[in-house]
Amino acid sequence: MTTALYPGSFDPITNGHIDIATRASRIFDNLVVGIFASPEKHLTFSTQERMELAERALSHLSNVEVKKYDGITVEFARQVKAQVMVRGLRMVGDFEWEFEMAMMNRLLSPNLELVCFMASQEYQFLSATLIKEVAGLGGDIASLVPRHVAEALQKKGLSKK
Ligand code: ADP
Repeated sequence: MTTALYPGSFDPITNGHIDIATRASRIFDNLVVGIFASPEKHLTFSTQERMELAERALSHLSNVEVKKYDGITVEFARQVKAQVMVRGLRMVGDFEWEFEMAMMNRLLSPNLELVCFMASQEYQFLSATLIKEVAGLGGDIASLVPRHVAEALQKKGLSKK
């Protein structure tokens, strides 16, 4: 049985994240989507909200579980008994950061293997930050996030009516 951890801030979950979680769920027996409670960036949604939005978006995947965590990611991977960490790679920009983090994680937890999925073409330039910016300016984000996420953004005043 292989358990994989897909960690991130998911503020909020987007179709790009869902695509990675869906593809990873086909390969690994269990996938834990780890919602990092306090990343060093300004958050739009609370931990509880990010959890609920992700749970609803992934509820059709029976081997996927959403959990929140705090502290160091490799420690959380140990707690959930994950042998693998999953990340998504978008065009160019993600690589350097992911590589740096992977080297640090390897030092901290040599047995945790990293598996990176290449972002699908349609989501290469999709980020939660960009979605919030576009939504805030009144752009149509319907094809980039599930409907309940678009509604949640709207409630935050971040989407067109
Ligand atoms: P971070 O961990 O930097 O806060 P996120 O929570 O936004 O990043 O994303 C978690 C993971 O999902 C990261 O590996 C990120 O590269 C990946 N990811 C984010 N958006 C996409 C996308 N559109 N397509 C594929 N992977 C993505």
